[in-house]
Amino acid sequence: MDPIEGVRKEISSKRDEMIELQRALTAVPALGPQNGGEGEWEKARLLIAWLERLGLGPYELASAPDPRVPKGERPNIIVTIPGREKQGTFWIMTHMDIVPPGEARLWESDPYKMVIKGDRLIGRGVEDNQQSLVASVFAAACVKKLGLRPRRTVGLLFVSDEETGSSHGVQHVLKAGQRFSPQDLALVPDSGSPEGNLIEIAEKSILWLKFVVTGKQCHASTPEKGVNAFEAGSHLVVRLGALRERFAATDRLFSPPTSTFVPTRKEANVPNVNTLPGEDIFYLDSRVLPQEDLERVTGEVRRICAGIEKDFGVRVQVEEVQKASSPPTSPDAPIVATVRDAIRQVYGVEASTIGIGGGTVGAYLRAAGIPTVVWSRIEETAHQPNEYCLVSNMLGDSLVMALAMVG
Ligand SMILES: [Zn+2]
Repeated sequence: MDPIEGVRKEISSKRDEMIELQRALTAVPALGPQNGGEGEWEKARLLIAWLERLGLGPYELASAPDPRVPKGERPNIIVTIPGREKQGTFWIMTHMDIVPPGEARLWESDPYKMVIKGDRLIGRGVEDNQQSLVASVFAAACVKKLGLRPRRTVGLLFVSDEETGSSHGVQHVLKAGQRFSPQDLALVPDSGSPEGNLIEIAEKSILWLKFVVTGKQCHASTPEKGVNAFEAGSHLVVRLGALRERFAATDRLFSPPTSTFVPTRKEANVPNVNTLPGEDIFYLDSRVLPQEDLERVTGEVRRICAGIEKDFGVRVQVEEVQKASSPPTSPDAPIVATVRDAIRQVYGVEASTIGIGGGTVGAYLRAAGIPTVVWSRIEETAHQPNEYCLVSNMLGDSLVMALAMVG
């Protein structure tokens, strides 16, 4: 029998077990402490029991201390299958934590009791990120059961804290030990499209800035006695628009193809109409093409702020709320070809490489020098009420992963 057919048959035969694991995982809400939860340990314990039952033990833990949860730590689990060649590990990274269900009345069923409707599984977490988590578990189990030696060592990495910053998840694992090498490559199946034809290889740099404009508060009837921070801040917002012209490079890998600079959050100033505000606070969300230098962006921001200080007699403080950048993965990196070939064999589509506006955990791996692609075939219902995934996608993606492992 054609080896692909063997893998396909083995994974299809696991359909019911995969659905069962989805159901079990959905019943254990793994919410981080910032989301009002007790962390991921209960879910991790369930997953470990399944890993052992499927012959995927032994596993390794790289837990991150966190006094905010009852167990005092956040679990990160690593399973490896030795490969034929010693040339780095092929990682598949998924996350165990979920986001809260949100408004209960928008759900047609209990978010933590998985419902099956035809090809759909419905419940919180079934798509984000359990579809891929379950797919990776069964891909590895299938490769092991059929006695196929993967080309590279396979590493399944199940992390915590993806939804609330990753400092207790992938960032901790990256810091904690010599598990990674620049020879490694990684698939992060946590974003994608319904056709499964988009392989994300690059992200814009993220720069979130907080602006605190300080003037002098006074009675609104005597404005000459104060300095209006709100008025100065409003001019500042408008002048920051110049960043778009100053950093106008384009890159067709991305949509939109330019860097973006968007004023977003605005904090309230005075509660009453007849006080001239002495303080004004707002935020700017910037997504900068990786080829632009973030230091040049912050330099230009400082120059604009100095102009406002001079023209309006205020003080402007700029604070970096979030700053992250990662080098793009080359479209010619072997991981891109491996995943693209497997997608073609399973789904019959030719996938193209894209860049996005930023914010996946793939960026941490890229920043550590590991060529990383973000891909999955999903319905894009993550974080929504009535989140669902398609069983056919879970099986298909599992086959893609198994083929990519065997390489
Ligand atoms: Zn996710």
